[in-house]
Amino acid sequence: MQTTLFLSDLHLPATPSPLRSSFLRFLQGPAREANVIYILGDLFESWIGDDVGLQQFAPEVAALAALAASGVHLYYQHGNRDFMVGSDFFALTGVAPLPDPTLIELQSEPVLISHGDRYCVDDRGYQRWRRFSRMRWAQWLFLRLPRARREKIAGNIRGDSDAAKRNKPESIMDVNTGAIRSALTRAGVRRMIHGHTHRPGTYEVDLPTGPAQRIVLPDWRSDTQDYLCVDAQGMQQRSVGG
Ligand code: MN
Repeated sequence: MQTTLFLSDLHLPATPSPLRSSFLRFLQGPAREANVIYILGDLFESWIGDDVGLQQFAPEVAALAALAASGVHLYYQHGNRDFMVGSDFFALTGVAPLPDPTLIELQSEPVLISHGDRYCVDDRGYQRWRRFSRMRWAQWLFLRLPRARREKIAGNIRGDSDAAKRNKPESIMDVNTGAIRSALTRAGVRRMIHGHTHRPGTYEVDLPTGPAQRIVLPDWRSDTQDYLCVDAQGMQQRSVGG
């Protein structure tokens, strides 16, 4: 029986942080026991290009590369904060990028995995930004700006997004149930795992064909750094801990 780990929304900052130490402890400890690890987006709070990110996160990049070299299969989906993580990161770490969503097999059951932001369709403004920011030409132009300009733009976007969040009703920033139902139906599955919403838990979804489940991964905070473990014992939330 395989051990599969899922984690997302660590939001590691570019500056030294206890969260970064926890992640390194995770990579050197529990991650070594796993066969497969899925990172479902927003590992990094900000990523303005591989040229900058690989320097800022050099210890994490080295630890991911060491883990991949030890034989653990690492997969990565982009989040809304680190959607610019690019080919140099993947080449250097040995982590494999996955499209969002992706259908995987987990203990002989098909499961849909995603960062989750694509299902927050009630937030029209965000979805417009999402479509724009994922366009190749927009990213191509952004990456040609000097580092200081990119940092300023990324900082402004984060500031605008935080300000907008304060004025938006809570429900708008959650996933839309209809969007979840159609994604599950289209993929022909009864289970989905995603992050992004910072509302960890297991949510029941009624499909015309019967009950389904949506599992939301825990985001990392100063007091909790948890991940999901699926092994012979079933599915459990585990803690990296002090
Ligand atoms: Mn997110």
